Amino acid sequence: MSAAREYRMAMTFNDNARIDTSKVRRRGRTTGIAVGGGGLLVVGLFLLSQLLGVDLTGLAGGGGQQQGPDQSIGECTGLDANADLDCRIAGAADSLDTYWSEELPTFGAEYRTTGIVLFEGSVDTACGGATSAVGPFYCPPDETIYIDTSFYDELQSRFGSSGGPLAQMYVVAHEWGHHIQNITGIMDGLNLQDTGPASDAVRLELQADCFAGAWVGAAPQLRDDQGVAFLEPVTQQQIADALSAASAVGDDRIQESTTGQVTPEAWTHGSSEQRQRWFVAGLEGGPNACSTFEAESL
Ligand SMILES: [Zn+2]
Repeated sequence: MSAAREYRMAMTFNDNARIDTSKVRRRGRTTGIAVGGGGLLVVGLFLLSQLLGVDLTGLAGGGGQQQGPDQSIGECTGLDANADLDCRIAGAADSLDTYWSEELPTFGAEYRTTGIVLFEGSVDTACGGATSAVGPFYCPPDETIYIDTSFYDELQSRFGSSGGPLAQMYVVAHEWGHHIQNITGIMDGLNLQDTGPASDAVRLELQADCFAGAWVGAAPQLRDDQGVAFLEPVTQQQIADALSAASAVGDDRIQESTTGQVTPEAWTHGSSEQRQRWFVAGLEGGPNACSTFEAESL
């Protein structure tokens, strides 16, 4: 993919936006996880299926690995965020934090921020140990988003646009949505063991997609502490790309490409069509439109 095309696929930061990078830290490398060449595609498809995952229970027991110390990712401007993955994640995080700190009080809820830990290989969390195979996830007990950046590299090389910069920011926004669900109590009392097109798990995931759309819709109005908008206005083409990313991670699409058949009763995140529809609902209507738990039809 050419650099120019890649650039278009991202939401574009204003070059002189100043990004507060304090919410993102990189955890020191652990011993790498070796993946055999033959297994790469299967692993890649599995990873794609987890692209916007929340994993509340399924992490390996883990523990005992040598974790390096967390490191700051340094300073970033909008210009850096357009070119560099860590800065792009930090830019999305700063914009999301600004958005939800303004938005949530209008719903009578108190906001507190989350943090993002970037890692490669494996990581210890309050939800257990995780490897690259888990994909990006939010861990409610430590209120932290974990993103394996080697997973992003894999996504981009395997899946092109569906794994490009826009998908990277969509992942951050979706996982931030899970944080909002956690601190507002939406996650309490859900039955996340059941699967299927109208299950609590699917409703939770579609709502996180909707929250991501709400942020994308508001993003050009969000400003850094100097009053500079973080992001340039979103183009129709970028919205089409976001929908393409949402479509690529629909349970039906993933089942079809991995097993050749669609089994709705096993869905955990919703179909391609559902994921696109709820993203657009948030984009056009804001968080108010994200009532997936009340909706009769998803
Ligand atoms: Zn999710």
